[in-house]
Amino acid sequence: MILSFRGEDFFCYFEKINSIMTDFQVTILGNGSAVPTVLRNPSAQMLQSGNRRFLIDCSEGTQLQMIKYRVSRKNFSHIFISHLHGDHYFGLIGLISTLHLSGREQPLHIYGPKSLEEIVHLQLKYSDTRLKYPLLFHVLRDNEMIYEDKLLEIRCFPLSHQIPTWGFVFREREKERNLRKGFVARYAPGVEQMHRIKQGGDFVLPDGMIIKNKEITTASPLPRSYAYCSDTAYDQKIIPFIRSVDMLYHEATFDDAMAVVATEKFHSTARHAAQIAAEAGVGKLLLGHFSARYSDVSHLLKEAREVFENTLLSEQGETYDVGK
Ligand SMILES: [Zn+2]
Ligand SMILES: [Zn+2]
Repeated sequence: MILSFRGEDFFCYFEKINSIMTDFQVTILGNGSAVPTVLRNPSAQMLQSGNRRFLIDCSEGTQLQMIKYRVSRKNFSHIFISHLHGDHYFGLIGLISTLHLSGREQPLHIYGPKSLEEIVHLQLKYSDTRLKYPLLFHVLRDNEMIYEDKLLEIRCFPLSHQIPTWGFVFREREKERNLRKGFVARYAPGVEQMHRIKQGGDFVLPDGMIIKNKEITTASPLPRSYAYCSDTAYDQKIIPFIRSVDMLYHEATFDDAMAVVATEKFHSTARHAAQIAAEAGVGKLLLGHFSARYSDVSHLLKEAREVFENTLLSEQGETYDVGK
């Protein structure tokens, strides 16, 4: 026999708690390309998932951008460096040094190309710096999971650039279903039963009666996802890695008039970025890595929107909610 469980006590504390979405957002610290200008810093951004924060690329000047935009240097333990062009990591040794001088003790994980560890150790060696905290390097390989916790998993994947370069995709994990408080108060299920029900199981009473899962749980919010692709030429090979992400940050170094140059330099135009966004079926496209030759990039937005309407120009200091 299947019991039906309805009533006002369905709407309760448990649902309220679980309906609160954890933060999943990215703050742009730099969205310029190779050369810093008064308008734009080269690449860096901070992604937040719940109480975890991840720094993606760390160009020269990133520390100052963090101060300017009130992004704390504390409470993050993972840095992802896409490649070894200076506009993506020349701020790393400065940040490592500042964390040391600030008395950091917890380990710092750095994910990047193979040579990065050697470069950083040379800089530390010749400045006679003995860090107070452990620095743990992780070498990026073609396509693999590089991080996971209860909320999130992060994968790297190869981009198409002049030197080995990786993109990163951050995907929230599927969340368990939420128990309705009325059910818990009435039937006081055991810990194991609650765990099984959160996974989608029905509740079986001692007399064999069954309450269907749908009656005693509510669905959790859908997992959200964010992808970072800088630097890269237009390349359909990246599409499987970023398919259907809620938000894609993609480089748009050049405009249509520079399309040949973009291809020669293994970079993208705004239109290329939009083509990738459309072909990958992403929710929203955020453009960045703008060439220093453009003080106004509104024409890049126009060119991209001709292909993919839901496009935004990234703004330094702005925080974007992924999935909204
Ligand atoms: Zn670059
Ligand atoms: Zn590059």
